[in-house]
Amino acid sequence: MKNKSIIIFILLTLLLSGCSKSNVSNNEVDSKMSDSTQPNEMKKESSNVKIDYNEIKPNELGKIMVLMYHNIGQDESTWVRTPDNFRKDLNTLYEKKYRTIRLNDYVSGNINTKAGFTPVVITFDDGNENNFRVFEEDGNIKIDPNCAVGILEEFKKSHPDFDTTATFFLNSNIFNQPEYVDYKLNFLLENGYDIGNHTLYHTDLSKSNKETIQKSISQEIEVINKYIKDYPVNTLALPFGGKPQEEDYVYSIKGEYNSISYNNTAVLLVGWDPYKSPYHKNFDFSKIHRVRASETNVDNVGLYDWLNDFDENKQIRYISDGDSSTICIPKNYEDVLNKNIKDKILITY
Ligand SMILES: [Zn+2]
Repeated sequence: MKNKSIIIFILLTLLLSGCSKSNVSNNEVDSKMSDSTQPNEMKKESSNVKIDYNEIKPNELGKIMVLMYHNIGQDESTWVRTPDNFRKDLNTLYEKKYRTIRLNDYVSGNINTKAGFTPVVITFDDGNENNFRVFEEDGNIKIDPNCAVGILEEFKKSHPDFDTTATFFLNSNIFNQPEYVDYKLNFLLENGYDIGNHTLYHTDLSKSNKETIQKSISQEIEVINKYIKDYPVNTLALPFGGKPQEEDYVYSIKGEYNSISYNNTAVLLVGWDPYKSPYHKNFDFSKIHRVRASETNVDNVGLYDWLNDFDENKQIRYISDGDSSTICIPKNYEDVLNKNIKDKILITY
C-alpha cells in the first residue's frame, strides 16, 4: 500500500463530483474511509471497496475481447455455433473469470466488472432467426431454449454473477419472424441487451460512396425505431468487415439521410484479436477489433486460441479493480495511458 501512488489528474466537474459523492453515501464506505490511516486513501473518495492491488493485480490497460457470433444451429460450421458449443463458450468464459459488459460501457470506460475479473463483450451479427426465435404455447410467447437469446437467458438464471448481456446487430430481417419483431426488440431492451446497426441490406461499405453509406446506416435506424421509438441505435458492425474508404470513413461514425442522423459511439470490424482497453492512448472506438467466437476455420485466432494466450500470459488481459471511477494499472503501463481520460482517478502500484 505504501508504494501506491494515487493521482487525481482531472477534477470532476461540479455536477459529476456531486454524483460521485452520492454514489458512496453508504455507511460502510464512510466508516472505512474514516478508519483509514493512509492519507492517500482519503483522496480516493469514490472507491466503494478496498482491494489488495498486489493480490488482485488489476490491469485496466490489458486487452478485452469483443466476441463475434453469427448463427446458432445444429451443424457447427464457420459461421455457425451449435447450442451446446455456445453453452460451452459461456461456461468456459465464466470459469476463467470473464464477465460480460455492454458494448457502450466498454467504449465509454464505464466498466464495473467485479475486482479480479475480466470484462468481455458478446455480439451477434445479421439478426437471423436462430439468434432469437419464439413460439406460442397455450397463448403465451415462449423463447426457443436453443436460440441465442434462449441460451443466454438460461445462463443468466444459472449464473447470475456472469452479468449476462449481448448486442445484436440487425439488418432488415430482424430475426425473421415478422409478427414478433415488436415483442423481441422490447424483450431485448427490457432484459439488458443492446441493439446495433448492421445496415438495412447488409451493404459492403468498402464499396459504397458517402451517400450510400449514410443511407444504409440511417435506414436501419428508421426500421428499428419504428418498434422501439427513441432507442439510440449508435453502434455499428461493418457488414463483411468492409471499411469505407479512408476519406469516407467518417460517415461510418456520423451522418444523415432523410433527416435521420446518427453519431456512432462504436464501429466494429470483423477481425481478429482482443482489442485495447478504452483507456489506452491508441484505443479507437471507430475501429474496434473482434474475436471470432468459434473453433472452426479460425486460423488460430479464434476465441479458444486467445483464451489460451491469456492463460499463458502471451496476451495481457484486462483485470478490473471493481471500480469504474478509477483506472488501476501496474506502474510500467503508465506510458500507454490516454492522458485525456476525464473524470477518473488513476491508481498505479
Ligand atoms: Zn453480417
